[in-house]
Amino acid sequence: LDPRLVSARASSVGPQLTLLVIRDVTERERLDQMRTDFVSNTSHELKTPVASVSLLAEAIESAADDAEQVRIFAARISAEASRLGQLTGRILSLSRLQAAESLSQVEPVSIDEVVAASIEAHSVQADSAGVELSRGGERGVWVRGDAQVLIEAVGNLVANAIVYSPRGSRVGVGVKVDADVVEIAVTDQGIGISDADRERIFERFYRADEARSRRTGGTGLGLSIVKHATQRHGGEVRVWSRPGRGSTFTMRLPLASAPESVLDKKSKRK
Ligand code: ADP
Repeated sequence: LDPRLVSARASSVGPQLTLLVIRDVTERERLDQMRTDFVSNTSHELKTPVASVSLLAEAIESAADDAEQVRIFAARISAEASRLGQLTGRILSLSRLQAAESLSQVEPVSIDEVVAASIEAHSVQADSAGVELSRGGERGVWVRGDAQVLIEAVGNLVANAIVYSPRGSRVGVGVKVDADVVEIAVTDQGIGISDADRERIFERFYRADEARSRRTGGTGLGLSIVKHATQRHGGEVRVWSRPGRGSTFTMRLPLASAPESVLDKKSKRK
């Protein structure tokens, strides 16, 4: 907005509009700033793996005669490439969620299926981390939205719960209906989160323990995706945590009724 336009309009229509217009300008500036920060943070995050890949490629060139060294460097290139793949995938998810006015697909979504798919997607990760994954709570619960977006969000919570937990501990995914809201809770017995970090973990690229998160392949985007995905579905995310004892992340979503086809089947069975 042109500032001259602001004052011209303001003088002709009075103080209320002035306030509105100024608010509008501030909001646009805030969004512009957010976009600029996102681009610069993202570029910064991409730089490290890209630099590693190019260094490793040079190392392969100079170790060409040593087959074992070549194999080691190639394996590291492959690991960096998969990290880049994960990072770009998450950047894409987040920018889609932030850009879209609403979800691209809105249909009845079975929470049973969302929970099953999120657990299934991380069962290998849980096995190799020595963490027992389980599900519990109510069945036959439905919401309206985009199943893939919800599976990715619950999956991110499950993945974090596994990463930040010790071997031999348990991670549970529970479903509870509370009036017209469904609560999907992911509970772990892991390292927990301090009060100060709890305020910030939903910010893009924020990590409570930078070194640990990078070591475990974290991108700092998982929870930001969870927050935006939940908000897009008209819901909210909450977190409870005791450092050293564990955490519970809860996605609360507006409940929907089961689709006709499911209700018909149920009534025929009776
Ligand atoms: P990351 O990819 O680093 O895990 P997230 O956005 O998913 O990024 O999480 C942000 C930060 O929140 C993590 O770096 C970690 O410090 C903290 N965090 C997330 N989930 C948990 C959890 N279940 N237990 C302890 N800390 C967690």
